[in-house]
Amino acid sequence: MKDKVMLLEMPWHEARRRAQQNAVAVIPMGSIEEHGPHLPVGTDVIYTEGIVKRAAEIAAKQVPIVVLPTFAYNVVWWAKPFFSIGPKPDTLQKLLREIIHALVYQGFRKIVLFQGHAGNTAPWTALLQLADEGIDAHLFDVNLGAVVQKTIRALGEEAPPRSGHGGWWERSVVEFVRPDCVYPDLIPTEENREKVKPSNYKCVDNGDVKLVGFATRTPHGYTGCPELGSRELGEKFLELAAKFLAEIFIEIGKKEPAYPTPREQLEQRVPIDS
Ligand SMILES: [Zn+2]
Repeated sequence: MKDKVMLLEMPWHEARRRAQQNAVAVIPMGSIEEHGPHLPVGTDVIYTEGIVKRAAEIAAKQVPIVVLPTFAYNVVWWAKPFFSIGPKPDTLQKLLREIIHALVYQGFRKIVLFQGHAGNTAPWTALLQLADEGIDAHLFDVNLGAVVQKTIRALGEEAPPRSGHGGWWERSVVEFVRPDCVYPDLIPTEENREKVKPSNYKCVDNGDVKLVGFATRTPHGYTGCPELGSRELGEKFLELAAKFLAEIFIEIGKKEPAYPTPREQLEQRVPIDS
């Protein structure tokens, strides 16, 4: 039981013990949205859970940790008119806040929000709101993007160009975690691969300005080179990404923050004209 990291697989007394041990509580966030013709709409959920679970298993050898169920619902309105299902930002923010409060009530003091979906900024907004609310915990905002960049650098020459959306690494990791969820006949080839349309604005194409609306630039919901992925690459990618993420979990688990929680700060605050 002690080697379990997924909350849903633990009896309540083990979950309570983790809270009492000041365990790191991780909330992984995926999304439901198109990932090209060859990958499922749950791509972000599948790889996020795969990477976070493996990272937590590595970290659990050194620090107490517990992983909450992955949020499948995320703010995905940006993906319209492609197939996407998700709440409005304020709904997600409320839900996250309540889950975080429930964790704090149970005794958790180190809570990691792991955003496995790069196109979403609502959790960050929620974090800022929560920091202001005086909760008795420390919140850590960990973004998949940084872990992916580190992993691609570590893969070196083995990493194909252009990571993309529904591209080589997402395809590879899904193929490793859930081989039944990649549709080989529908993987775009180099010949028929969709070209991202130039925006007609230099400032957009060179990255200085973000044009809102993914669908305006890619008619079939993917970018990058999905044909360059593989199950083997997915295994390597997941192991490396999990290793980098585990380092973060371990550091959070081992160290205490240099500053008090928002609640402690509130209690310490003395009015200027007292
Ligand atoms: Zn994705």
